[in-house]
Amino acid sequence: MSVLIIAEHDNQQLNPATLHAVSAAAKLGDVHVLVAGEAAGAVAEAARKISGVSKVLLAEAPHYAAGLAEELAPLVVQLAADYSSIGATATAFGKNLLPRVAALLDVQQVSDLTEVVDEKTFVRPIYAGNAFKTLRSKQDKLVLTFRATAFEAAAAEGGNAEIVEVTATPAQNLSRFISRELIQSDRPELTQAKVVVSGGRALGSAEQFKNIMEPLADSLGAAIGASRAAVDAEYAANDTQVGQTGKVVAPQLYIAVGISGAIQHTAGMQDSKVIVAINKDPDAPIFNIADYGLVGDLFEVVPQLTAALKA
Ligand code: FAD
Repeated sequence: MSVLIIAEHDNQQLNPATLHAVSAAAKLGDVHVLVAGEAAGAVAEAARKISGVSKVLLAEAPHYAAGLAEELAPLVVQLAADYSSIGATATAFGKNLLPRVAALLDVQQVSDLTEVVDEKTFVRPIYAGNAFKTLRSKQDKLVLTFRATAFEAAAAEGGNAEIVEVTATPAQNLSRFISRELIQSDRPELTQAKVVVSGGRALGSAEQFKNIMEPLADSLGAAIGASRAAVDAEYAANDTQVGQTGKVVAPQLYIAVGISGAIQHTAGMQDSKVIVAINKDPDAPIFNIADYGLVGDLFEVVPQLTAALKA
């Protein structure tokens, strides 16, 4: 039994999200990692050092450079013949690529796994994370995505896998990469951050979101998240959304500011180690899952909290 994990990268650096898929895959057999890109040798070098990886497949071609699912899927499908399972972390990249792979292989993808019981048995959230289902797949070949927050990252050092070059599949030209707009930030990446401060609809405007949430985040070295209501109202960027249809986070500390605690939001943060909620409504559902609750007007208490943290 062996499993192929698809590495996420930008042709220069391996995304740490891949480390979670590697550790999740350990119970599935021999772990190989596919690095498909252009001039991605440095990524393959990083992948070969991951603890628990026994082989790195390196496929290089200009049409793999942007990580387009339409270009990568035929390669993964071609390699799939040698593997019992194909997996990736359930990031935007993995969620984009693997359904296409599953469809081409004519198998049903098993998504967002939070536990690998054995090579065919898995646990995954259902009903927006309100329940967990244990399922046993009858398929011979499995296509899996792993929830990063549910699995420790494999050690980035300590492995010594061989790198094997594989022949690239022909360009599909079904889609074309035009540009990527990256938000440059000194803050930690949301899904990797140890501390996350998230703001909700109560912030009232993009300006107030910035003026209240950024100093709080700066005082804690935190990443900034948001509820969907705050994102829909354009107080915060799309990629900050936490929840069922946003990102799933499980930091050491999560501070929810002016967020009611709808299940679609808590589905994305309820595994945080310590949850602090700040809300003026003592009956807000967020207090049901909070370790510490502060009932008050956020426009008064958050600046005071930020000042105290800075002091
Ligand atoms: P509200 O529910 O309006 O809550 C605002 C809170 O702020 C209230 O509790 C209020 O008491 C408090 N408040 C107001 N003023 C102050 C003040 N001055 N000081 C302190 N507290 C104050 N939501 C997500 O977040 N993420 C998702 O991924 C997501 N996915 C969804 C998917 C689907 C299919 C659906 C149907 C919904 C989804 N939602 C998601 C939306 C979700 O149901 C809620 O509507 C949303 O989370 C509410 O955001 P909120 O808590 O910021 O706003």
